[in-house]
Amino acid sequence: MATTDAGGRGATGGAGGFVADPDVCAAYATDVSGLREVPAAVVRPTSTAELLDALERARIDRLPITAAGAQTSTTGASIAAPGGAILSTRRLDGIVDLDVGARRVRVQPGVVLADLNRTLAEHGLFFAPDPTSENEATVGGSVACNASGARTLRYGPTRAHVAGLTLALADGRTVELRRPVLEKNTVGLIPAQDPVDWFVGSEGTLGVVVEAELALLPLPPRVVGLGIPFPDEASALAFVVAARTSEGVDPRCLEYFDPVSFGFAREAQGSGAWQDSEGTMVYLEEAGDDDPDFDAWLSLAEAHGARDHAIAVFDDEGQLRDARRFRHACPAAMHEATGPYLAAGGRRISTDWAVPFPEAADALAEARRAAREHGVDDPVVYGHLGNGHPHLNWVARDPDEVHRIEACVEEILKRTVLPRAGTVAAEHGVGKLKARWLPLQMSDLQIGLMRAVKRELDPHDLFGRGNIFDSNTP
Ligand SMILES: Cc1cc2nc3c(=O)[nH]c(=O)nc-3n(C[C@H](O)[C@H](O)[C@H](O)COP(=O)(O)OP(=O)(O)OC[C@H]3O[C@@H](n4cnc5c(N)ncnc54)[C@H](O)[C@@H]3O)c2cc1C
Repeated sequence: MATTDAGGRGATGGAGGFVADPDVCAAYATDVSGLREVPAAVVRPTSTAELLDALERARIDRLPITAAGAQTSTTGASIAAPGGAILSTRRLDGIVDLDVGARRVRVQPGVVLADLNRTLAEHGLFFAPDPTSENEATVGGSVACNASGARTLRYGPTRAHVAGLTLALADGRTVELRRPVLEKNTVGLIPAQDPVDWFVGSEGTLGVVVEAELALLPLPPRVVGLGIPFPDEASALAFVVAARTSEGVDPRCLEYFDPVSFGFAREAQGSGAWQDSEGTMVYLEEAGDDDPDFDAWLSLAEAHGARDHAIAVFDDEGQLRDARRFRHACPAAMHEATGPYLAAGGRRISTDWAVPFPEAADALAEARRAAREHGVDDPVVYGHLGNGHPHLNWVARDPDEVHRIEACVEEILKRTVLPRAGTVAAEHGVGKLKARWLPLQMSDLQIGLMRAVKRELDPHDLFGRGNIFDSNTP
């Protein structure tokens, strides 16, 4: 690790650039989770030096500080700890270096993913991770959450595309980490061999991403999207499993929409590509040098009872943009539907669990049954079913409903998800909302190991306090 001491730099104006103006603080009090904590102060650095000064100030004052990008976290990860501050990276949105030949880009943490990809497209490149929030989400937030998206089916999550990180640590050092390039190595225990992996997915608890070096891919010459409607959930999900396991087709994403979310998607469509259709829908993309094998897709769809007269084809850039818009419409519509209930203590509840993909249909059927048994609404379901990863969504109208729905979700996790070797959180992280469910999935030994790393790097628990580690977790 190359390290630099931040000590000599000094904190600007003795305050590190923090402001405590109530209006400014209130503007950073929430993320998309619906949780609220007005920070005691906010700092919005415009340069790396200012960022490091602010952290130095926080270190001296023992001020808990939570990094925040676009605050699209659905788990409360980007709101402050009680009495703590927010470090907003939004103004650190520069591309530091782009090496087209090496397919590498070095960026500041506040760069928005969609902006990055617009720039990269001019050079025939792209950054593969595509969370549905890509128009808002920042690189720093995506690295810290190990975000993924529809295309993760083909390209993997953010972790796979992080080549190196520059981090500010809680003790005032700045470290440069790079992925090991060795093909063989037997030195040390695996958890210690590649420290980049400690920080990807650490939700701001171990260090602040000051710069990230990202690995890029060449833009595929041809991308085609297909929207295939099915009469019901069972046939759509059987199709999804077949699409992952059949010869002749090679999807890079397999997204599922139940009838309610399909309705949101249809309303948001810009191109009119959708035929009038009811039921459920699978959206998929193929990417490569040539057209996909349309006949292979058609016969697979027909074999699973698709409404094949209503299949929509998205095959130019504008249409593919529309397709992305309808995917985004689902979380946006749920978020909007929750708005009127926030003041009364309601909020949106959205699950992020995943199971091995062949088990997703059974898991989803069990989850819908559990909702009925708990007397809560049927969830609105959409998501990355190609990865066995549905999002179940509810609008809880008041605290009592929040409680009942969360009890139902907890039972789904215990009875349906974890017995299938699933995960409590597949892409949105644990944050503050899901911290209490960590011990359902991880042993005391695993949590103890993570706590030891946290203690070593941040003994005063200043960074991202409350994320991942619940105070009740052993
Ligand atoms: C409509 C919608 C759709 C979404 N779809 C997806 C999806 O498809 N896939 C997915 O994975 N997620 C999704 N999310 C969740 C969220 O958008 C992602 O986790 C995103 O990567 C967060 O980016 P952000 O800039 O908003 O981070 P924030 O919400 O600001 O922060 C998230 C976490 O990162 C930490 N952090 C931020 N910047 C830094 C930094 N510089 N250094 C260290 N830690 C930092 C924060 O402390 C926090 O723990 C969605 C959210 C919404 C609202």
